[in-house]
Amino acid sequence: MDNCLFCKIIRREIPAEIVFENEEILAFRDINPQAPEHILLIPKEHINSPAEINEANSRIAGSLVSAAAEIAKDKLPDGYRLVFNCGEIAGQTVFHLHLHLLGGRSLNWPPG
Ligand code: 5GP
Ligand code: ZN
Repeated sequence: MDNCLFCKIIRREIPAEIVFENEEILAFRDINPQAPEHILLIPKEHINSPAEINEANSRIAGSLVSAAAEIAKDKLPDGYRLVFNCGEIAGQTVFHLHLHLLGGRSLNWPPG
């Protein structure tokens, strides 16, 4: 998508601190981290939000979670939180599907 911020990161039109990449996923550090480690994992295919995950494209959701688990093995061995925000009311600000991987501090539950 031409005007999508995360598609621009995928195309390297905007710099990001990339921590993992394969054929279908890119992972990079959040520009405004909410924890000592805060990584965003995105599919290279543009999907607007978790609400657009369906039977045809759902494999990507598992791939995002397993890539996060792989990254966390090294960086967050004591535990972490995975978050998909869906819709503005839930705090979604970038409308390209992304999984937040957060850790490195105690995380309260429920989140604020
Ligand atoms: P959301 O609020 O949509 O769930 O998450 C979007 C995230 O993208 C936010 O945590 C925000 O800090 C991050 N973000 C927004 N713009 C940029 C950017 O240009 N680069 C990076 N690395 N992260 C960004
Ligand atoms: Zn996009």
